[in-house]
Amino acid sequence: GPAADCPADVETLGRSTWTLLHTIAAQYPTQPSPGQQADIKGFMGILSRLYPCWVCAKDFQKFLATSPVRTASRDDFGRWLCAAHNEVNDKLGKPQFDCNMWEERWRTGWKDGRCD
Ligand code: FAD
Repeated sequence: GPAADCPADVETLGRSTWTLLHTIAAQYPTQPSPGQQADIKGFMGILSRLYPCWVCAKDFQKFLATSPVRTASRDDFGRWLCAAHNEVNDKLGKPQFDCNMWEERWRTGWKDGRCD
């Protein structure tokens, strides 16, 4: 794999970005205020324009246009984000992630204690 001190390639950038996004979802309130919901919508829109992989950004903008970001609750946003990630997984031939597991993966840790 790429050395730590080299510029990020599309894979390292992607892993880091998904980590940031799913962790934002994990910290997102169960009952977000209108301002918090507007922040997520604004952030995802800006990310889709600034994401430093042009083909990724273009496809992500298309996904956002057909599947508007859902922000009504932590679970609402977490599942929307999981679906967005699965869309990219599908495009790249990677397995689908079970979205019922998103909080175990990104917030609570696996029930078998793998993250302790
Ligand atoms: P990643 O896909 O980075 O996932 C990291 C970890 O997240 C996984 O190990 C798993 O534990 C967990 N995970 C997997 N799926 C889900 C899910 N659905 N919900 C919750 N958790 C999950 N790469 C390209 O080559 N072309 C593209 O067009 C492209 N578009 C991208 C668009 C965006 C917005 C982002 C953020 C990334 C994009 N990438 C793209 C990068 C790509 O998605 C992967 O990050 C990269 O290929 C590295 O994959 P990985 O196998 O390490 O795991």
